[in-house]
Amino acid sequence: MLEYYMCGFRTMARVICICNQKGGVGKTTTAINLASCTALSERRTLLIDLDPQANATTGLGIRLSQGEPSVYEFLVSGMSHQSLLRPSELEYLYIMPSSQDLIGAEVELVSIDGRESLLSRAISEIKLNYDYIFIDCPPALGFLTLNALVAADSVIVPIQCEYYALEGVSNIIRTIRRVQLQLNRALRIEGFLLTMFDPRNNLSHQVVQDVRKNLASQVFDTIIPRNVKLSEAPSFGKPVVLYDITSRGAMSYFALAKEIMDAESLCTGQEACGIGPGS
Ligand code: ATP
Ligand code: MG
Repeated sequence: MLEYYMCGFRTMARVICICNQKGGVGKTTTAINLASCTALSERRTLLIDLDPQANATTGLGIRLSQGEPSVYEFLVSGMSHQSLLRPSELEYLYIMPSSQDLIGAEVELVSIDGRESLLSRAISEIKLNYDYIFIDCPPALGFLTLNALVAADSVIVPIQCEYYALEGVSNIIRTIRRVQLQLNRALRIEGFLLTMFDPRNNLSHQVVQDVRKNLASQVFDTIIPRNVKLSEAPSFGKPVVLYDITSRGAMSYFALAKEIMDAESLCTGQEACGIGPGS
């Protein structure tokens, strides 16, 4: 770990995947808007869309035409990341787009040794180019999410403030523990993120209480409110900061980005002093 730091400054990207096998909990919304906020903070940011639904790709206004290469080629044929990268409207934000080709990857690669480490190996080549690499995962704990967990330094797990909010969370925690034991010892939980909070709804308050009681300090202080601007922005192909920077949705993702960047500078300081993991 210490080789990643020089005089307290990180020289390699921090890789953070956003996953929860439950669908529609705010993974992609978080990936797009968190990446935009670190980019606005002048951190070189790459968003990898690892979901064949390609919502992060289209949500940032990118549509691949038939046959155009995507993250599938990065994963499977080792195509250089430079030839796949798409710029965004934000100077510091780049996207590696996804396509439906990814659906077939699991079956096509079934006989390949170390197939769960394909993304990790591909990413290791480009870590110096970025400060943050975010990976948007599909709603499943299959081959693609496993590749993300093996490649990542940490995981953000969005939890929607809804009925059965904690349902399935134990599955993802179990999967993370298994990956830590077998494939990526350094993987840690960046935090559980409460999303789509509606202050007028008693249930939302109840969920916040339950989640904080069960997951304690692992829950981010920042709570993402239900906010119509967040749901409208992708149809304009924009992150919320370029759609309505004054919205509560934009403010909440700025707060989340700050929480993550602050926690990291604290951590970097510790590691530079030799107190951190790996020392
Ligand atoms: P999937 O599992 O299908 O990939 P997901 O976990 O990535 O879904 P999103 O696509 O981010 O979830 O969100 C699901 C829907 O909820 C989308 O229509 C999105 O615009 C909307 N949404 C997400 N977060 C918010 C929010 N904070 N306020 C309002 N709408 C939201
Ligand atoms: Mg999604």
